[in-house]
Amino acid sequence: KPRLLEDEDGGVVFLSSSFSSSSSGYGFASIEKQRQRLPVYKYRTAILYLVESHATTIVVGETGSGKTTQIPQFLKEAGWADGGRVIACTQPRRLAVQAVASRVAEEMGVKLGEEVGYTIRFEDVSNSDLTRIKFLTDGVLLREMMDDPLLTKYSVIMVDEAHERSISTDILLGLLKKIQKRRPELRLVISSATIEAKSMSNFFLSSKRRRALEGDELLRPSLEPAILSVEGRGFNVQIHYVEDPVKDYVQAIVSTVLLIHDKEPPGDILVFLTGQDDIDAAIKLLTEEARGNGKTSSGLIILPLYSGLTRAEQDLVFSPTPKGKRKVVISTNIAETSLTLEGIVYVIDSGFSKQRFYNPITDIENLVVAPISKASAKQRAGRAGRIRPGKCYRLYSEEYYLNEMSVQGIPEIQRSNLVSCVIQLKALGIDNILGFDWPASPSPESMIRALEVLYSLGVIDDDAKLTSPVGFQVAEIPQEPMVAKMIISSNELGCLDEIITIASVLSVQSIWFSIRGAQKELDEAKLRFAAAEGDHVTFLNIYKGFLQSGKSSKWCHKNFINYHAMKKVMEIREQLKRIALRLGIVLKSCEADMQLVRKAIAAGFFANACRLEAYSHGGMYKTIRGSQEVYIHPSSVLFRVNPKCVIYHSLVSTDRQYMRNVISIEPSWLTEVAPHFYQQQRHNPNIH
Ligand code: ADP
Ligand code: MG
Repeated sequence: KPRLLEDEDGGVVFLSSSFSSSSSGYGFASIEKQRQRLPVYKYRTAILYLVESHATTIVVGETGSGKTTQIPQFLKEAGWADGGRVIACTQPRRLAVQAVASRVAEEMGVKLGEEVGYTIRFEDVSNSDLTRIKFLTDGVLLREMMDDPLLTKYSVIMVDEAHERSISTDILLGLLKKIQKRRPELRLVISSATIEAKSMSNFFLSSKRRRALEGDELLRPSLEPAILSVEGRGFNVQIHYVEDPVKDYVQAIVSTVLLIHDKEPPGDILVFLTGQDDIDAAIKLLTEEARGNGKTSSGLIILPLYSGLTRAEQDLVFSPTPKGKRKVVISTNIAETSLTLEGIVYVIDSGFSKQRFYNPITDIENLVVAPISKASAKQRAGRAGRIRPGKCYRLYSEEYYLNEMSVQGIPEIQRSNLVSCVIQLKALGIDNILGFDWPASPSPESMIRALEVLYSLGVIDDDAKLTSPVGFQVAEIPQEPMVAKMIISSNELGCLDEIITIASVLSVQSIWFSIRGAQKELDEAKLRFAAAEGDHVTFLNIYKGFLQSGKSSKWCHKNFINYHAMKKVMEIREQLKRIALRLGIVLKSCEADMQLVRKAIAAGFFANACRLEAYSHGGMYKTIRGSQEVYIHPSSVLFRVNPKCVIYHSLVSTDRQYMRNVISIEPSWLTEVAPHFYQQQRHNPNIH
């Protein structure tokens, strides 16, 4: 059994191992040889036998053992994709979908998008006739169920990274369990990097079967999920802790990288930080300090890894490190289990990741930098032991690790706003959502909140059924329900043309190009497009400028706009346009009447309305419904303007709750667009 043995006192983690030569999977071996060296290869026959004879097979194995890239290929070689059938493999993360699909296409020697393809939201690189192995996000597979509720084209569905317990994975598991009852020939493979196989297995045993088992009745073996552990081949990882809590982890990371580079033998460094902001900050600081330190700087290749990187940037991360150089990859927790980087010997763990948190009382959801769990810390450390014994530097104390870190993370469904989740289930005809068979139940408070918002959006009726046509239309648009409602409302207001531009810009990470050390120039560029109404209208100005420039990359460069992001915006816009036209929405422009655009935004995002409480730079606002203190984010064009009443698109939380992408509105619109939601407050001075 693969085990992560831990010597809690000595602080040394041993990954149980069948030691193999340090060159395995590395160097010049042919792809076939590399495949055969992966731990999962030895289990090929066992896996195929279990999938053949069991409805559900649970595969547990260390990251890098070959689960994601090999199992779909084994299945295909064994004939599971014959007769036009397709093998699906889901991932919680878009970047992982792209990376593993291109790796598998390479291993099979086929063109990506043909026999091996992938689909993520707004990007379909698959072919309905040719594709036999399809990688996709769990969210996209859920969407496919709206057209094909039994997912009939798939013979095997591999739900990968199940330990992550993303919200879509959990919904998917509940639905797949239902589908299995109708499609006994469907096979499920649930794969995971950590060992909670037993509870997953129990989930797939129906209560009847469970009772039967307890009663010692003879069962068809195929009904009980099979569990297979793939023996890992990691090496020892020595753990180092800090003595005192780290105050500034970006600084601590930079010092640790330089120390390793100075004192330790060759081997790449993987750093776990939380998101694009602090990764960029760390890269900037590291580059500066390395430059000022001639000896150390030579030979360092510093690279970021987060979603939203361009193809070329991704490729750099995966390409082998040139001789005499040392690669430093500074990553979000995407490198924790979703992606395997070769050559890592040192890991620096900040102890944090960005996590979604939702409070049903205040109805606020945001991404928070929060401490990771022990399970995550162990995974992160394990990344250092793939090619030879490695070291992991934890930027927290051993005491903290032992006594304060939680053992497991909380499933995302228990810390999320459920609006999207509820509408998806409703659209699939699942009406009793509280009674749904969840791997982990969401809280009733969050559920009630979601139903209330959906009711106010006009998406569900008094009986909590999807309304026609609005509810069905909203479910059809591959965007969060608030964006979808904004798009639908633009029909009546005659501003679809503008609204789909806004929705597309909101779908990409950022259209600004932040060059390290050029904040002032970026701010000046922003001013050139800034609209008094707010960020959404500013996006329209940028889009117009981009079109007028002839979609020029030079123009983008000059204005600190990310050309790749703009190209993505155009693609998404085309798709949204197609979908909107299909739903019968008329493509009209409101020309210069921005009031109509702002009203459409309010019709979707009324729940995010805030009122100014105190003037100052980035003055203090309170959410109208929940009276929560929020501030305009410094990146907003309204940062210094402070309109009386605004609507935000999302919140980010650091020292305070910051509103990102903000538009000013008239308070009176709120009772117009969402009378139910704001009814109780009708006489509340907060709103008039
Ligand atoms: P698991 O899913 O068990 O974590 P994977 O199937 O993702 O393992 O990876 C197996 C091996 O395939 C890795 O150890 C690595 O050697 C190789 N590999 C995977 N993805 C890539 C990639 N994008 N580029 C190069 N090698 C890769
Ligand atoms: Mg994997």
